[in-house]
Amino acid sequence: MPVSEIKINLSALRHNMRVIRQHLPKEVNVLAVVKANAYGHGAVQALRIALEEGYCAAAVARVEEGQELREAGFTCPIYVLGLPLPEDMPVAVNENLVVPVDDTVDLDAYEAVAAAAGRVMDVWIAVDTGMNRIGVHPADVPAFWEKLESLPHLHIRGTFTHMATADHKEKDAALAQLDRFDEALSHMKITEDFVVSSANSAGIIDIPRSWHNLARPGIILYGPQPSDVMTHTLPLQYVMSLTSHVTHVQTLHKGEAIGYGGTFVADHDMKTATIPIGYADGYHRALSNKGEVLINGKRCPIVGRICMDQFMVAVDDEVRPGDEAVLIGKQGDEEITIDEVCAKAGTIPHEILCDLKRVPKVWVEE
Ligand SMILES: *Cc1c(COP(=O)(O)O)cnc(C)c1O
Repeated sequence: MPVSEIKINLSALRHNMRVIRQHLPKEVNVLAVVKANAYGHGAVQALRIALEEGYCAAAVARVEEGQELREAGFTCPIYVLGLPLPEDMPVAVNENLVVPVDDTVDLDAYEAVAAAAGRVMDVWIAVDTGMNRIGVHPADVPAFWEKLESLPHLHIRGTFTHMATADHKEKDAALAQLDRFDEALSHMKITEDFVVSSANSAGIIDIPRSWHNLARPGIILYGPQPSDVMTHTLPLQYVMSLTSHVTHVQTLHKGEAIGYGGTFVADHDMKTATIPIGYADGYHRALSNKGEVLINGKRCPIVGRICMDQFMVAVDDEVRPGDEAVLIGKQGDEEITIDEVCAKAGTIPHEILCDLKRVPKVWVEE
């Protein structure tokens, strides 16, 4: 048994997928954003359940991620969200991925790769409506569309844009982005099977106008709300929990410092326990002297700095080596949520969930 373990609750994942599916009208298709190994939850496991729950496709950040899903046997549409380099195109064509394009990519090179493979490659047009990351600007769509249409081995499957502030309380900027997206759409030939997509998790929950005909939930599949200032919330369940064990218990005497830099000094004799997880596992160093873990159902504060592979907590006299320590999740009547951990670490759930790469995972379905 590994000393530390991530448990992925596939029943909670399925529940979230159902809640999201039911929140949207039937006409709106839903894909599962499973980039970065499904935000650390296992892309293969997550996509299998998404397809069982009626999701139409997967989205990944990169061509390699799409290739891994094909190698795992998935035949559903796979949309790539980030612009690939021309070197990635042979794999993208071969694996039948839907690749994003804008007016900065070498479309003639893409056309040549597809022609050489004797295939028609699906592309979707990335539109920049204000995120300023990738995409063609709405005013440049007419010329871009004409160019794309002139290339017989590229098929325009649809278009998407991405909102920068859909998770803010104030929605004006997100709605202004959707206005610009409408302008871009007015320059495209929208047939019945043409894919139009702008909703991330926050758009799905708060901005019906962003639903179009394909929604792209990421973080809400895995339990966290997109932010704590959303107008609405969905009844989601946390999917990931993180557990370790106490490997060492000792007395820290009054006046003694603990850990690198001696940043915590005991003001009385106290017990400390050592937990064998650190920032190399993705347990952020920013939690030094801030985070808490659960042992025997009680909250135990982190004392001193998080090391690369271990950290220490203040404990009571009952704690023994071998006791379970819950870093994220429930123990007894207490719970430490990923949201609590992120608030203390000064980051968002996406980052910590994706970072916990070294800890072995188990998938359970109840
Ligand atoms: C990551 C990503 C998403 C999913 O975002 P969430 O906020 O996690 O729902 C959707 N669309 C694009 C383009 C993305 O990069």
